Amino acid sequence: MKFSRLKLLGFKSFTDPVELVLEPGITGVVGPNGCGKSNLVEALRWVMGESSYKAMRASGMDDVIFSGSGNRPARNSAEVTVVLDNSDRTAPQAFNSADTIEISRRIEREQGSVYRINGRDVRARDVQLMFADASTGAHSPALVRQGQIGELIAAKPTQRRALLEEAAGISGLHSRRHEAELR
Ligand code: ATP
Ligand code: MG
Repeated sequence: MKFSRLKLLGFKSFTDPVELVLEPGITGVVGPNGCGKSNLVEALRWVMGESSYKAMRASGMDDVIFSGSGNRPARNSAEVTVVLDNSDRTAPQAFNSADTIEISRRIEREQGSVYRINGRDVRARDVQLMFADASTGAHSPALVRQGQIGELIAAKPTQRRALLEEAAGISGLHSRRHEAELR
């Protein structure tokens, strides 16, 4: 399973529709300061179910919606879609019957987020668990924030263990066990 496309509409600095094609191999994003490189990585984190607005460098989740600049008016919604190429059939079982999987998250001002997998409404949790089972997600160690390497070196063993569990793809199981214990 691979990320093959990232589509943005009204997310942070991207008011016009943008579609990024992620070819096999390494993709580099270059551009001047403030052009939106980090916003792209945050879009990927967001569509995978990031629930912390702080992780989006925002003071509320509505801040991810384009707030206007120059002569471009603010928008009332933002949407990010990620397309997964599943032609190698390695997606988690529940989603493994199709060649492509499309996950989208849309936010309307003051109304929160709506998630879809292949056009069907799902809960945030369904999206988070799908990515956790695939050993990735909004908190995946594969997404390296500025300053994160230093945090890792200074981390306590229990914090480092959480990273290893995420990498091993078992954090979804922990989350399900926790939920079962609360019932
Ligand atoms: P650097 O090279 O400095 O790391 P960058 O390319 O990573 O820069 P970003 O941090 O992704 O840049 O983008 C910052 C820009 O995004 C700022 O100009 C900021 O005003 C803009 N921005 C962030 N949120 C919004 C929003 N909700 N509406 C409009 N613009 C926004
Ligand atoms: Mg940046």
